[in-house]
Amino acid sequence: MDYGLRGQVAIITGSTSGIGLGLAEALAQQGVNIVLNGLGDREAIEATRAGLSARNGVEVLYHDADMTQPLRIADMVSSTRNAFGRLDILINNAGIQHVAPVDEFPTEQWDRIIAINLTSTFHATKAALRPMKAAGRGRVVNIASAHGLVASPFKSAYVAAKHGVIGFTKSAALEVAQQGVTVNAICPGYVKTPLVEAQIADQAKARGISEEAVMRDVILAAQPTKQFVTVEQLGGLLLYLVSDAGASVNGAALTVDGGWTAA
Ligand code: NAD
Repeated sequence: MDYGLRGQVAIITGSTSGIGLGLAEALAQQGVNIVLNGLGDREAIEATRAGLSARNGVEVLYHDADMTQPLRIADMVSSTRNAFGRLDILINNAGIQHVAPVDEFPTEQWDRIIAINLTSTFHATKAALRPMKAAGRGRVVNIASAHGLVASPFKSAYVAAKHGVIGFTKSAALEVAQQGVTVNAICPGYVKTPLVEAQIADQAKARGISEEAVMRDVILAAQPTKQFVTVEQLGGLLLYLVSDAGASVNGAALTVDGGWTAA
């Protein structure tokens, strides 16, 4: 299916792994030029960059902005505009997790989660909206979470940040509603990425049960389908949102969670 995106340019934060990388692939398959971002081994990132480009016949650049650094985030947006002369799509996806009771939650982990999962979304959107407003078209998609709508214990920083992302999404969407720009949030349930795989291992150790039991009885307990969401399923919604067909979806928090938040 052709979503009419060929030749557009997208920045995806936190796209060296997991959901961000999957969304980059979905866009590249539609002929969108990509700016990858994220942490990791430089050689592995270069291999990812070159592979994405060769498979899809699009230009793929990498920017190493650390999402805790506002000036580097602004540089990522301005470098993209210098390289391609346009910026059509921004996906704020970078995120981390830390699990601990509130009274034991390390303050530096709280600050880091708020900086990466929430505040980087503000900095990147701030820099991207100026050129999008000037062009009269743009798409900002924030990867929130089912945890942007409901809570779980021991994830206070993550839940606070993701609720914040949805609030920010709504406010920004109202500001640009008449300028051809939309701002939306996607709220995934559990997707089996390195972020979740680490939690499976940690929870198995903490609870003294097998990883299979953690997946079935702890993680997928909240997800009525009892199946992980896939990055391809998230890609399907993303392509709709960034296409012309998605022009009237604005300020929405769209769930892809197997029914988790319906309960
Ligand atoms: P992941 O760990 O596979 O990927 C996270 C990405 O963010 C990586 O590319 C990493 O390098 C990057 N990153 C981390 N810290 C960074 C920093 N300081 N600067 C720049 N990049 C940084 O995780 P994922 O599961 O793919 O998560 C992606 C997003 O989806 C996150 O916002 C997460 O909260 C959200 N999400 C994930 C799930 C899930 O079940 N996996 C569910 C709902 C929402």
